[in-house]
Amino acid sequence: MEPFFASGLRFSCKRCSACCRHESGFVFLSKRDLSLLAVERQMGYTEFVKVYCRWVPGERGGECLSLKEKSNYDCIFWDQGCTVYEVRPVQCRTFPFWRNVLSSPTAWELAASGCPGIGGGILHSRDRIEACLAERAAEPPVYRGI
Ligand code: SF4
Repeated sequence: MEPFFASGLRFSCKRCSACCRHESGFVFLSKRDLSLLAVERQMGYTEFVKVYCRWVPGERGGECLSLKEKSNYDCIFWDQGCTVYEVRPVQCRTFPFWRNVLSSPTAWELAASGCPGIGGGILHSRDRIEACLAERAAEPPVYRGI
């Protein structure tokens, strides 16, 4: 069966930062994310994890690595915009083309209710959307002790 996004989906970031701020949430880090961000901050992995990360419940059980939030729930890297934009995590790069958001038209519409960029702007092809899904699948979160 064809996915509901077979004809593509429209999305253009409005730079509102709604996905980076104000609400609590997890920004999972892959091994590659951790490596690139640690280099960007000129830190070793251990120091980077201590300063910028926290361990949170993972989908598969256990704990996986996520960015910290500030006390107001802004992402630790948000300051008038993403301060690590060039090396932002795969979760951020592939938004909103995430497996859960693409699970049904209803899930897509629900995501649109919290993001003014969803549903308008650039038409992203099915290939592009599936490339985002593949990119995310290829870079799973880091699990503690695995
Ligand atoms: S890393 Fe950057 S793009 Fe990702 S949530 Fe934080 S501020 Fe937003």
